[in-house]
Amino acid sequence: MAEDAAEIRLEGIVKRFGPIEAVRGVSLGIRRGEFLTLLGPSGSGKSTLLHIMGGFEVPSEGRVYFLEQDVTGVPANRRPSSTVFQDLALFPHMTVGQNVEYGLRIRKVPPDERRRRAERMLEVVGLEGFHGRDANKLSGGQRQRVALARSLVVEPSVLLLDEPLTGLDELLRQQMQEELKRIHAELGTTFVAVTHNQEEALSMSTRVAVLHEGRLAQVGTPRELYEEPLNVFVADFVGSANLLRGPVEPGKPPIITVAGAAFRCGRIAPGWRNAGEAMAAVRPERIRVGPGAAGQPNRCRLRLESVAYSGSMLEYRLRFADGQGLRARLISGRDVEPPAPGAELEVGWAVEDTRLLPKGAAIRN
Ligand code: ADP
Ligand code: MG
Repeated sequence: MAEDAAEIRLEGIVKRFGPIEAVRGVSLGIRRGEFLTLLGPSGSGKSTLLHIMGGFEVPSEGRVYFLEQDVTGVPANRRPSSTVFQDLALFPHMTVGQNVEYGLRIRKVPPDERRRRAERMLEVVGLEGFHGRDANKLSGGQRQRVALARSLVVEPSVLLLDEPLTGLDELLRQQMQEELKRIHAELGTTFVAVTHNQEEALSMSTRVAVLHEGRLAQVGTPRELYEEPLNVFVADFVGSANLLRGPVEPGKPPIITVAGAAFRCGRIAPGWRNAGEAMAAVRPERIRVGPGAAGQPNRCRLRLESVAYSGSMLEYRLRFADGQGLRARLISGRDVEPPAPGAELEVGWAVEDTRLLPKGAAIRN
């Protein structure tokens, strides 16, 4: 299978820093040419794992393979990978060109070829003509691009990126996301990125590995993570989810009861085991409110607590009689006037949009 040709394979990686276990047993295959993102909250072990791949940290346990060669103890400068660190320090007293050529100079590439390759890479990152510019006088986005060019110019087989877009303002971040995707497609290099931003992970990557407290919570395509989360953590961290708790009556489909209302669960995570209490995840944008709820098989009446307006969206915050909350997200319109708080509203959603998960602790809500 594809695992055979893994560009990078991590096998049972554990990393301890004194008493802290930053990575607690991660096995993962990264395929040639994919854009894989490690996604997780701060402190979940993303950077540590990336540093282990890059050869900047040695794991306490486990092995690292590049194309099935064991490189566990091999230092960074002897691996076919290149890393863009989170702080991405450029050499401030050098020109853009000198920054980009740096890795080639160390590798003793002749000046003409250095120049040619640097200019080509500046073109790839959208900085044509910047070769002679002062590295000090660049905007955040331009610095980001120079750091990318500097790492890519040595033609690594794997590019490792630690939070490449964190710190850029929203507009620039979106623009750079597109750029990264384009550069990845153009060069065909394997990209492994780290981010804590779920929207960024979903929109950039071909696959996402979700980390939670040093362990892999799930690995899959963006769509798989969003539509088929394996556990409460992933359902809650990737996108947002209503997590409804209640007793479950097994059957086809199983039925979960929340504050006296019965909901059929059309999707079941493999970890669910007919156990008494469980959780059902429903995405806020799949919920219909008012007249739109009429035809929906999973239906109830809930009290509206508040409505949050964010321009494009309206978020209705509703509550079950037992205190559990439910958020419904509606596309706003010029004429959509939400009802006043306190109103009792008909709410409904599809059986297929109700995913039964093993019971777990939600991180938000
Ligand atoms: P993330 O990148 O997901 O935010 P890190 O991999 O940086 O997480 O860190 C994971 C955990 O390991 C954190 O608790 C962090 O404080 C700890 N850690 C990381 N690097 C070191 C280090 N060099 N020494 C001690 N603790 C560390
Ligand atoms: Mg980090």
